[in-house]
Amino acid sequence: MEKIRMTTPLVEMDGDEMTRVLWKAIKDELILPFVDLKTEYYDLGLPERERTRDQVTIDSANAAKRLGVAVKCATITPNKQRVEEYNLSEMWKSPNGTIRAVLDGTVFRAPILLDSIRPIVRSWKKPITIARHAYGDVYRATEYRVPGEGVAELVFTGKDGSTFREKVYDFECGGVLQAQYNKDSSIRSFAHSCFRYAIDTKQSLWFSTKDTISKQYDQTFKLIFAEIYEECYRTTFEELGIEYFYTLIDDAVARVIRSEGGFIWACKNYDGDVMSDMVSTAFGSLAMMTSVLVSPDGKFEYEAAHGTVTRHYYRYLKGEETSTNPMATIYAWSGAFRKRGELDGLADLVAYADALEAACIETLTDGIMTKDLAGLVDAGTEVKAVNSTDFLRAVRARLEKKLGA
Ligand code: NAP
Ligand code: MG
Repeated sequence: MEKIRMTTPLVEMDGDEMTRVLWKAIKDELILPFVDLKTEYYDLGLPERERTRDQVTIDSANAAKRLGVAVKCATITPNKQRVEEYNLSEMWKSPNGTIRAVLDGTVFRAPILLDSIRPIVRSWKKPITIARHAYGDVYRATEYRVPGEGVAELVFTGKDGSTFREKVYDFECGGVLQAQYNKDSSIRSFAHSCFRYAIDTKQSLWFSTKDTISKQYDQTFKLIFAEIYEECYRTTFEELGIEYFYTLIDDAVARVIRSEGGFIWACKNYDGDVMSDMVSTAFGSLAMMTSVLVSPDGKFEYEAAHGTVTRHYYRYLKGEETSTNPMATIYAWSGAFRKRGELDGLADLVAYADALEAACIETLTDGIMTKDLAGLVDAGTEVKAVNSTDFLRAVRARLEKKLGA
């Protein structure tokens, strides 16, 4: 078979530990035999971040900005223990945070569904994608304990010296105080990313806040979304037969639980943090969650939602066999190939991405799966729990058939 052609390279961001091992295995088994792979390679593994003083992360993010589509392996976010383990000169920042800051993007997370693994919520039939606004609010709040009696005020001093002043509370005893903020520019970027992603995936978009209680703060989110929808996206939404739907967060929770799925749920920062864990747990497994960062100007970075699976890596280093699930990492690649194919008008590359995902699903449907999934499938399904290598080989055999290789 002639290898599938690419024109523009993908930005390839390699990572750490078990997922780094899987990264290479996926390329060797499922990509290089079929695709004339073109990538601009950046090694975001911790040793290289240390060597370049994290410049490699910034370079990779700028490359994603320039080339438009990136695929990223999971990476270690160093903590104190990692600083010792890797003998780091600094506790380097989270690569995902750095990339998100450069691309000004929103993260969309969606589960890969399988007939034999039923969501805990019985009505869910299609994936629910969570879009979390990853900027501001309680994550950047200023807060302290109020020591005792006294007046708390909120003061804003304009550049021209004018001031806004509002009493928060006349404390008769000690308590707590917090001020949070967000910016119109960030909310706008968030809104554009959400509308674009809804169009891109042809799914309706839900957005929820608590604007009945938060009459300025949450109301601003609601109004900005409404304005941008009317100005830029309503026509396209109507043409595609999808809808934009705003509702209160409490109502959204009730509707989501009763729904069939198949839509995007945009959430403010805190709501997105909590709801994405709720939704992913109810769908089954972290190893089956895909993730894509979408910038407001339409750049895409695909990755798995899980981390570097450290515990498995230490077993791997001892020479033990591991059964780490490569599904979400494979889908990061297929998502990136599909997007690259669409942008460059390469039908074969899109077809390859589809075939790769279909081969994965077929393998799982045939009962061949890693250990994490074997424990989740319906009773009565015949299952063969395999190690990562055997799983990839089984996918490859099915992929070869599909591609006539
Ligand atoms: P993790 O790597 O997601 O793993 C947590 C546990 O979930 C694993 O120990 C494993 O459970 C299970 N698991 C996750 N992915 C799996 C897979 N593909 N196949 C099978 N089981 C899977 O999270 P963590 O242990 O909290 O973090 C490890 C490192 O990853 C940290 O250094 C963290 O900074 C980094 N991290 C990176 C990203 C990212 O780059 N996007 C995201 C999160 C965390 P069992 O051990 O019980 O089998
Ligand atoms: Mg969380």
